[in-house]
Amino acid sequence: MQLSNIPIDYKPRTNLLSGKTILVTGAGDGIGRSAALNYAKYGASVLLLGRTGSKLEAVYDEIENAGGSKPGIIEMDLATAPEDMYTSVAASLGEEFSCLGGILHNAALLGDRRPIESAGYANWQDVMQVNVNAQFLLTQHFLPLLQQAPTASIIFTSSTVGRIGKAYWGAYAVSKFATEGFMQVLASELENTSNIRVNSLNPRATNTAMRRAAYPGENPTTNPAPQDIMPAYLFLMGDDSAGITGKAFDAR
Ligand code: NDP
Repeated sequence: MQLSNIPIDYKPRTNLLSGKTILVTGAGDGIGRSAALNYAKYGASVLLLGRTGSKLEAVYDEIENAGGSKPGIIEMDLATAPEDMYTSVAASLGEEFSCLGGILHNAALLGDRRPIESAGYANWQDVMQVNVNAQFLLTQHFLPLLQQAPTASIIFTSSTVGRIGKAYWGAYAVSKFATEGFMQVLASELENTSNIRVNSLNPRATNTAMRRAAYPGENPTTNPAPQDIMPAYLFLMGDDSAGITGKAFDAR
């Protein structure tokens, strides 16, 4: 896979995301939390989607205390939410907002890492539901609102193991390959028919709960904090990346 590069030393202007409403999934923790805080800092109204209300409320408070636009909270468990919940969330957002300027598909489950031979089907299905099927449902139901925006950006979160397969990474790796495929199909469909650009972004090793669970023997501080990789998240979400679509990026 050919990788594209974020401009070296990219520095977003302070009003990069002014006037945009942006949905971030998995906004309560880790990279999603940091992206939500940064999108708000650079002017966006942020919709915080996640499964743990208390974490979303803490991010809400941080944004408000920093003087950002009042965020929205969408408490939703992507492992179990039925399709009609996506329909009703999209409908109520449509009543409140005229358009959506972007989606960061960030929420993911790590799942069991074990040989395919002994992988449990229930765990496999959970990982696929959160990491792939929920992205499909959110994208499909929110496309009409994205199409109303003058320009919009969809970012799919990838992984190194979603670009080169690795033993024992099971459903997680397969789900990230699916994410790359989804990104390419959608980008190709929307390229000449809309102002929506679609790209994938691999944060690479970042000090979060997921990374610490995946590598318990590693010194967590050897990896960058989520805040350190935010230039890539801002570049791809803001209009400095206008015209770029169907590409796979690394955050650093
Ligand atoms: P974290 O586990 O720290 O955060 C994941 C977020 O997703 C959490 O807010 C979590 O909610 C949310 N989430 C998980 N399951 C669900 C669900 N069923 N419904 C709704 N929300 C859910 O992970 P990271 O921040 O590290 O990961 C962010 C993205 O980056 C993921 O797509 C991951 O695959 C990818 N990535 C991360 C790397 C890293 O080194 N950190 C490397 C490569 C890719 P809650 O807090 O309530 O559990």
